[in-house]
Amino acid sequence: MIRSFRLQLTIWYLALFSVLFIVFSTFLYGVVSMALRRQVEQTVASEAGIAAGLFLDEYQEMHGDVSKAATEAVAEMQGNLVAVFADRTMLAASSPGEHPELADVAARSSGTEPQLLIEISQYHRYGAVANVRRVQAGGREFLVIAFGSLDEVGRHLDALKAALPPAVLLTLALAGIGGYLLTSFKLRPLVRMASQARSISEKNLETRLDIGRAAEELTTLAQSFNELLSRLDLSFEGMRRFVADASHELRTPISVIRGEADVALSHDRSSAEYRESLAIILDESRRLSRLVDDLLNLARADAGHVQLQVKEFYFTDLLAECCRSVQALAAARRIELEYRADDDVPFRGDEVLLRRLTVNLLDNAIRYTPAGGKVSASIEAEEHGVRLRVGDTGPGIAPEAVPHIFERFYRADKARSREEGGFGLGLSIVKWIAESHHGVVELSSQPLSGSIFTVTLPR
Ligand code: ADP
Repeated sequence: MIRSFRLQLTIWYLALFSVLFIVFSTFLYGVVSMALRRQVEQTVASEAGIAAGLFLDEYQEMHGDVSKAATEAVAEMQGNLVAVFADRTMLAASSPGEHPELADVAARSSGTEPQLLIEISQYHRYGAVANVRRVQAGGREFLVIAFGSLDEVGRHLDALKAALPPAVLLTLALAGIGGYLLTSFKLRPLVRMASQARSISEKNLETRLDIGRAAEELTTLAQSFNELLSRLDLSFEGMRRFVADASHELRTPISVIRGEADVALSHDRSSAEYRESLAIILDESRRLSRLVDDLLNLARADAGHVQLQVKEFYFTDLLAECCRSVQALAAARRIELEYRADDDVPFRGDEVLLRRLTVNLLDNAIRYTPAGGKVSASIEAEEHGVRLRVGDTGPGIAPEAVPHIFERFYRADKARSREEGGFGLGLSIVKWIAESHHGVVELSSQPLSGSIFTVTLPR
């Protein structure tokens, strides 16, 4: 099995060329042989015509002496292969000295025309052609026959036959070498591309292939490869940012826990002080475990490892439960929580994830709305799905922050979010859950006039 593409291409090219050459040579040989034979036939036909005219002239001049007229006419043809027949008997044949075959045939001249041709042909290696003219003189019919040997034609064709194979072989050899060099030359950009691609790793993903001027197919390949690199670069960059952000987020609670433990252990303290330290440590541990949970969920989602546990449930019940679970938080912040639902909105999806989505939205709305504000949630059945809305009377989101709000670790109001215990992951989880149900999340918000998050999920 030949693995070199250049060699494979050259071999295919040569195979094709060989077939074409064989067809071409056969065709050429046929055409040349036909043309040469036709030329001989034409010469013979014109000789027969001339000889017939001469015979008639001589016949007149010789006052009907058939034998003399034939001999004279044939002699005037000067060595051409011509015979005159009367009643199946040869009267004269030209220059038997030059054409001993005619003397032989003349001696046994009882043959018919085809018989005569066969006999004449036997004297020629490549056969002969004949042309017969019938002339009437003195009330009798005579045959004037001109013959032409095919020996010369045969010799030409033999020469051609001998010349064709080496010519074809030489051309094939040249075509093979030429084809190999040409493919090597034309594939050079591919080799360059391979060596450039080999030098690209995660450390220099910003590098792009440059193959200069090359065939369209190769530039398209290089372009596609470069686009792939851009996508990889972007996703690597995203991953790097994610790891950096995650480490950064993990650092704060860990340093709080360590700091608190250090202080508590530095000297003997009252049990109230220990309790206070432990409460802080517990609080930060909870925060830490929430962050780790979120990170784990997003990492699993990225890796495509999350299998939706789809089942039938009532979204109305789900929303009611979620509102109940955040009711305490709302009350603590003096926020009025209102929810509205169509009767029984059935839905098929992952109930646990959708509960998470709803709680995240409600939690944000409550956390970012100042005391005395209002948060309202509703679920409506649509023709093709369901629509969940969570609105608040909070500060809204600045227009410049809106495009980034669903990005990981993005916080529109950093100080406030951190203070509220947020990591900037809540909305990216909401977006991922909506998208994994083939739905969309939309935000409509004006600064100072609250925000409304709408999740539309197809049935
Ligand atoms: P976080 O954990 O910080 O709340 P999210 O991804 O849930 O992260 O939200 C991203 C940012 O969007 C928040 O930091 C906050 O600034 C802004 N945000 C989210 N929901 C609201 C809302 N209802 N009102 C105002 N701002 C919001």
